[in-house]
Amino acid sequence: MQAQSKLAEVRVSKLAANIVGTLLTILSCVIAVFVAHLLPHYMRFADWHGIAFLVSFLVLLPVHEVLHAAGLRIFAGVPLRHIKFGVMWRALMPYCHCTVPISVHAYRRMALLPLWITGSLSVAALLAFPADWLGVFAGFAVAACVGDVWMVIKLRSFADTLLVQDSPSEIGCDVFSTITL
Ligand SMILES: [Zn+2]
Repeated sequence: MQAQSKLAEVRVSKLAANIVGTLLTILSCVIAVFVAHLLPHYMRFADWHGIAFLVSFLVLLPVHEVLHAAGLRIFAGVPLRHIKFGVMWRALMPYCHCTVPISVHAYRRMALLPLWITGSLSVAALLAFPADWLGVFAGFAVAACVGDVWMVIKLRSFADTLLVQDSPSEIGCDVFSTITL
Protein backbone atom coordinates (compact mmCIF):
# COMPACT_ATOMS: atom_id res chain seq x y z
CA MET A 1 0.00 0.00 0.00
CA GLN A 2 1.17 3.52 -0.73
CA ALA A 3 0.65 6.72 1.23
CA GLN A 4 1.70 10.30 0.62
CA SER A 5 3.34 12.64 3.06
CA LYS A 6 3.47 16.38 2.46
CA LEU A 7 7.00 17.76 2.35
CA ALA A 8 6.42 21.40 1.47
CA GLU A 9 3.90 24.04 0.48
CA VAL A 10 5.36 26.08 -2.35
CA ARG A 11 3.55 29.42 -2.66
CA VAL A 12 3.94 32.66 -4.58
CA SER A 13 2.46 35.77 -3.00
CA LYS A 14 -0.19 37.42 -5.20
CA LEU A 15 1.23 40.88 -4.59
CA ALA A 16 4.80 39.87 -5.44
CA ALA A 17 3.58 38.01 -8.53
CA ASN A 18 1.62 41.08 -9.70
CA ILE A 19 4.49 43.51 -9.13
CA VAL A 20 7.17 41.32 -10.72
CA GLY A 21 4.77 40.34 -13.51
CA THR A 22 3.95 43.96 -14.37
CA LEU A 23 7.61 45.07 -14.31
CA LEU A 24 8.76 42.14 -16.44
CA THR A 25 5.88 42.69 -18.90
CA ILE A 26 6.92 46.32 -19.38
CA LEU A 27 10.60 45.38 -19.62
CA SER A 28 10.11 42.59 -22.15
CA CYS A 29 7.74 44.71 -24.29
CA VAL A 30 10.25 47.60 -24.34
CA ILE A 31 13.12 45.26 -25.29
CA ALA A 32 11.06 43.54 -28.03
CA VAL A 33 9.87 46.86 -29.54
CA PHE A 34 13.47 48.14 -29.40
CA VAL A 35 14.67 45.03 -31.26
CA ALA A 36 11.95 45.57 -33.92
CA HIS A 37 13.20 49.13 -34.50
CA LEU A 38 16.78 47.94 -34.93
CA LEU A 39 15.89 45.53 -37.74
CA PRO A 40 16.32 46.81 -41.32
CA HIS A 41 12.87 45.60 -42.37
CA TYR A 42 11.05 47.39 -39.50
CA MET A 43 7.37 47.89 -40.39
CA ARG A 44 5.77 51.22 -39.57
CA PHE A 45 2.51 51.47 -37.66
CA ALA A 46 -0.59 50.73 -39.74
CA ASP A 47 -4.25 50.99 -38.69
CA TRP A 48 -4.79 47.24 -38.57
CA HIS A 49 -1.95 46.69 -36.07
CA GLY A 50 -4.16 47.63 -33.11
CA ILE A 51 -6.81 45.06 -33.91
CA ALA A 52 -4.16 42.45 -34.81
CA PHE A 53 -2.63 42.92 -31.36
CA LEU A 54 -5.99 42.66 -29.61
CA VAL A 55 -7.01 39.48 -31.44
CA SER A 56 -3.64 37.75 -30.94
CA PHE A 57 -3.58 38.73 -27.28
CA LEU A 58 -7.06 37.23 -26.73
CA VAL A 59 -5.93 34.05 -28.49
CA LEU A 60 -2.66 33.89 -26.53
CA LEU A 61 -4.22 33.43 -23.08
CA PRO A 62 -6.30 30.31 -23.83
CA VAL A 63 -3.50 28.87 -26.01
CA HIS A 64 -1.07 29.27 -23.09
CA GLU A 65 -3.43 27.27 -20.85
CA VAL A 66 -4.14 24.61 -23.50
CA LEU A 67 -0.37 24.10 -23.77
CA HIS A 68 -0.23 23.43 -20.01
CA ALA A 69 -3.03 20.88 -20.48
CA ALA A 70 -1.14 19.30 -23.40
CA GLY A 71 1.93 19.15 -21.14
CA LEU A 72 -0.11 17.38 -18.45
CA ARG A 73 -1.27 14.82 -21.03
CA ILE A 74 2.11 14.31 -22.71
CA PHE A 75 4.56 14.49 -19.80
CA ALA A 76 2.43 13.13 -16.95
CA GLY A 77 -0.24 11.10 -18.82
CA VAL A 78 -3.01 12.84 -16.85
CA PRO A 79 -6.48 11.82 -18.12
CA LEU A 80 -8.57 14.73 -19.46
CA ARG A 81 -11.16 14.36 -16.69
CA HIS A 82 -8.53 15.48 -14.16
CA ILE A 83 -7.69 18.65 -16.12
CA LYS A 84 -9.94 21.62 -15.37
CA PHE A 85 -10.09 24.94 -17.18
CA GLY A 86 -11.53 28.10 -15.76
CA VAL A 87 -11.23 31.87 -15.58
CA MET A 88 -10.22 33.84 -12.51
CA TRP A 89 -12.75 36.58 -13.17
CA ARG A 90 -11.25 39.10 -10.76
CA ALA A 91 -8.01 39.10 -12.72
CA LEU A 92 -9.62 38.04 -16.04
CA MET A 93 -7.02 35.28 -16.18
CA PRO A 94 -7.80 31.87 -17.64
CA TYR A 95 -6.19 28.95 -15.83
CA CYS A 96 -5.63 25.25 -16.20
CA HIS A 97 -5.79 23.16 -13.05
CA CYS A 98 -4.73 19.56 -12.54
CA THR A 99 -6.66 17.74 -9.81
CA VAL A 100 -4.19 14.87 -9.39
CA PRO A 101 -0.54 14.88 -8.29
CA ILE A 102 2.16 14.56 -10.98
CA SER A 103 5.93 14.08 -10.72
CA VAL A 104 8.17 17.11 -10.20
CA HIS A 105 9.93 16.13 -13.43
CA ALA A 106 6.69 16.26 -15.46
CA TYR A 107 5.61 19.45 -13.64
CA ARG A 108 8.75 21.32 -14.72
CA ARG A 109 8.27 20.35 -18.37
CA MET A 110 4.52 21.09 -18.29
CA ALA A 111 5.09 24.49 -16.63
CA LEU A 112 7.68 25.58 -19.20
CA LEU A 113 5.90 24.29 -22.33
CA PRO A 114 4.08 27.62 -23.09
CA LEU A 115 7.37 29.50 -22.68
CA TRP A 116 9.11 27.34 -25.30
CA ILE A 117 6.19 27.35 -27.73
CA THR A 118 4.42 30.74 -27.46
CA GLY A 119 7.69 32.47 -26.52
CA SER A 120 9.72 31.16 -29.44
CA LEU A 121 6.88 31.47 -32.00
CA SER A 122 6.16 35.09 -31.07
CA VAL A 123 9.85 36.02 -31.09
CA ALA A 124 10.23 34.30 -34.49
CA ALA A 125 7.18 36.23 -35.78
CA LEU A 126 8.71 39.47 -34.47
CA LEU A 127 12.02 38.82 -36.22
CA ALA A 128 10.21 38.00 -39.48
CA PHE A 129 7.78 40.94 -39.26
CA PRO A 130 9.31 43.57 -36.97
CA ALA A 131 6.38 45.82 -36.04
CA ASP A 132 5.60 47.52 -32.74
CA TRP A 133 2.45 45.46 -32.18
CA LEU A 134 4.35 42.19 -32.55
CA GLY A 135 7.00 43.54 -30.19
CA VAL A 136 4.37 44.25 -27.53
CA PHE A 137 2.76 40.87 -28.24
CA ALA A 138 6.06 38.96 -27.92
CA GLY A 139 6.71 40.85 -24.68
CA PHE A 140 3.33 39.73 -23.29
CA ALA A 141 3.76 36.15 -24.53
CA VAL A 142 7.10 35.80 -22.71
CA ALA A 143 6.00 37.72 -19.61
CA ALA A 144 2.86 35.54 -19.32
CA CYS A 145 5.27 32.72 -18.40
CA VAL A 146 6.78 34.56 -15.43
CA GLY A 147 4.63 32.71 -12.89
CA ASP A 148 5.47 29.36 -14.48
CA VAL A 149 9.21 30.04 -14.46
CA TRP A 150 8.88 31.27 -10.86
CA MET A 151 7.32 27.96 -9.78
CA VAL A 152 10.02 25.97 -11.58
CA ILE A 153 12.70 28.01 -9.80
CA LYS A 154 10.98 27.46 -6.43
CA LEU A 155 10.84 23.72 -7.13
CA ARG A 156 14.49 23.46 -8.17
CA SER A 157 15.67 21.84 -4.95
CA PHE A 158 13.08 19.02 -5.10
CA ALA A 159 13.92 15.64 -6.61
CA ASP A 160 12.38 14.75 -9.99
CA THR A 161 10.56 11.74 -8.55
CA LEU A 162 8.62 13.60 -5.83
CA LEU A 163 4.97 14.45 -6.48
CA VAL A 164 3.42 17.89 -7.00
CA GLN A 165 -0.22 18.85 -6.61
CA ASP A 166 -1.63 22.26 -7.62
CA SER A 167 -3.06 24.23 -4.72
CA PRO A 168 -6.83 24.51 -5.26
CA SER A 169 -7.07 27.99 -3.74
CA GLU A 170 -3.70 29.73 -3.83
CA ILE A 171 -0.93 30.38 -6.36
CA GLY A 172 1.40 27.46 -5.86
CA CYS A 173 1.55 23.76 -5.20
CA ASP A 174 2.25 21.17 -2.52
CA VAL A 175 5.12 18.69 -2.76
CA PHE A 176 4.63 15.10 -1.59
CA SER A 177 6.74 12.02 -1.26
CA THR A 178 5.29 8.57 -1.71
CA ILE A 179 5.95 6.05 0.99
CA THR A 180 5.25 2.40 0.55
CA LEU A 181 3.72 0.96 3.68
ZN1 LIG B 1 1.34 29.33 -17.46
